Amino acid sequence: MQFSDLLAGRNLKFKILLVFSVILVIPLAFLMIVSLNRTSRVAQHDFNLRLGYAASLFRRALEDQLDSIKIKNKKVADFEFYTLATLEFPATDTVKLMDTELIRSDLDYLAIVNDRRHIFIDRGSPPVEVLDKIIPAMCHSPLNVNLYIIEDEPWIFSAAMITKIRSDEARHVVFAQRIPRDFADPLKRLTGAEFSLLFAGQKILTSQMDVYGKRRIGAQPEDPDKTCGSTLILGKSHFFVREVALPGKLSESIRLEIALPDSEYNLLGRSIRRDFIFFGFFGLLLALITGTILALNIAGPINQLAIKTSEIASGDLTIIHETDRKDEIGLLFRNFSEMITRLRAEKELKEQRMKELNTLFKISNAVNLFVDSEELLKFVLTHAIEVLEAERGSIMLLDDNTDELVVKVASGGRFRIASGTPVKLGHGVCGSVAREGAGKICNQGFKDPEFRNFGSILPVEDINSLLCSPLKFKDGIIGVINIVNKRNDGLFNESDLALLNLIASQAAVTIENNKLYELSITDGMTRLFVHRYFQARLSEEMLRARRYGLTLSLIMFDIDNFKKFNDSYGHQTGDQVLQKVATTIKETIRTGIDIPCRYGGEEMSVILPETRAEEAFQTAERIREKIAAITINHTSGILRVTTSIGIATYPSDGHDKESIIKAADRALYLSKARGKNCSTLAADLKNQC
Ligand code: GH3
Ligand code: MG
Ligand code: MG
Repeated sequence: MQFSDLLAGRNLKFKILLVFSVILVIPLAFLMIVSLNRTSRVAQHDFNLRLGYAASLFRRALEDQLDSIKIKNKKVADFEFYTLATLEFPATDTVKLMDTELIRSDLDYLAIVNDRRHIFIDRGSPPVEVLDKIIPAMCHSPLNVNLYIIEDEPWIFSAAMITKIRSDEARHVVFAQRIPRDFADPLKRLTGAEFSLLFAGQKILTSQMDVYGKRRIGAQPEDPDKTCGSTLILGKSHFFVREVALPGKLSESIRLEIALPDSEYNLLGRSIRRDFIFFGFFGLLLALITGTILALNIAGPINQLAIKTSEIASGDLTIIHETDRKDEIGLLFRNFSEMITRLRAEKELKEQRMKELNTLFKISNAVNLFVDSEELLKFVLTHAIEVLEAERGSIMLLDDNTDELVVKVASGGRFRIASGTPVKLGHGVCGSVAREGAGKICNQGFKDPEFRNFGSILPVEDINSLLCSPLKFKDGIIGVINIVNKRNDGLFNESDLALLNLIASQAAVTIENNKLYELSITDGMTRLFVHRYFQARLSEEMLRARRYGLTLSLIMFDIDNFKKFNDSYGHQTGDQVLQKVATTIKETIRTGIDIPCRYGGEEMSVILPETRAEEAFQTAERIREKIAAITINHTSGILRVTTSIGIATYPSDGHDKESIIKAADRALYLSKARGKNCSTLAADLKNQC
């Protein structure tokens, strides 16, 4: 696995920590190990020097001891015993001299040996049994000194021949001194080292090494050959040991063992090591803390930004958390926040523009959706209120005859006529907008000096802000649109007014077009839809019924004996009848669902979508009864008319438009035949056949 693989897909925090670990932690750890090794080597070197120094001091002290006993022996032999020798060593004098000499020379043993190397007189304390071996050896090479171990104690022996004696027989004086156990103590205090003598493979304890409890008198060394001349660690107590051979002043191989306790070594190395460990760990800790701080302070916020960019990419433009950092990261955050704010503002603006465009499009397209002008006005008003984020509003149209503004629709949650009082041009806010032809913002609401209450049934006191725009068509004013109370207690601004002006001008065109369209499909006298519209709508509804498997009914009306009526009371009265009959039909059917038409002359029809024959029959009967109840005042008295009705239903009475019309017509004919003023279903016609 490569280093780059390790980093792939990891976040910045991890990378920073990893880089810090690799760059700082690993080299630092390596440096620590190298430095500790060096420290250890330096400490060992220093130790060796100290041990060497201690060894040379010990050697010198031992040599001095040996030399001094040798010199003493020579002197005693040549001077003190010379006289006695000539006198054949009289016992009383010799013993006396020996006793004195033992004390004076600080000796432990003194003997006079004859030429057969036999002791003939001695004083002191070494065990007699060993002397038989030592003394002959010593006398063999006079003036030598040597070390012997007797009962685990080191002894220095020295022999000297009494040279001034004039006799054939050689006489020797043998000196012996026990090396005191505290012999090395002053050196120990000086060097801090422990001393041991190794004599022909046997140990002689010359110092109080046993105070450490590790070695006892006479104990064998671990392995003298291995340890000789080197420094090593012994056992668990970590004693540093050095062995050096003593110079050849002694007849037998004697070696010296020097030891420094580990506490001494530790004293040297410990502080340096401790410093290294402390600084090493401190450095590591510092690296980790720095890495973590960097990771948290740099990688953390960058990570946060990265997450935010992903959210933005997915369309979430919520503002990022603010930061009070003054550094580049803080600047990055602030710039980023500002960028999001701008993006959001732009997005909101675009959405608002889209909404506005959509509203304008809907309003311009509304002419195709609504035949009824009131429905159209409601539609326009609803969308204007919505897009301007207002609470309510109204549309007032100018009455051509009175030149007054009349509220056509008003919305305050639901539609209602809010004012019955027409408003004269120039009166109130809406009156002056209509007269001047320019929109207005009244953010003082009802407190505006121009504001007038025209008897609105809605409370005017809660009008806090008002936006009013004229409905202009070509050069003339056809009305005004009022938008009331910006939501959330807001105020209207110039851009709101510009938007309302745009809506108003589009609405005015739509309203005018609708008027024209309404005119083109509405019969002038009866206000019912014209025949052409009837045909078109019937085709449309038939298609829908066929597609969705619905029923559809058609009612055909024909006023009874109308020719005669005209003849009797005149065409004008006849027209009056037609109007009243049309109004009755319109008032009885479902507004916005059923389609009332003037089929031709005094014949009228109603298309009833999604209506079964029985339901259509009931409606027809209701209308017939209402028509029969119509009264017309005439000079010749109160006049009444009746109607005959034919009802056909899709699909039972026909499968296309023509057959349905024909079926309804034939049913109507049957009603006439049955005596008029009645309703007949096309189904009855079949039964009759
Ligand atoms: P019936 O009961 O059989 O229908 O007898 P009717 O006299 O009504 O006969 P018909 O339906 O054929 O008569 C149609 C008459 O309706 C002819 C015409 O004078 C009258 N009429 C048609 N259009 C108008 C109109 O616009 N105004 C007036 N006043 N009369 C009209
Ligand atoms: Mg007729
Ligand atoms: Mg008729």
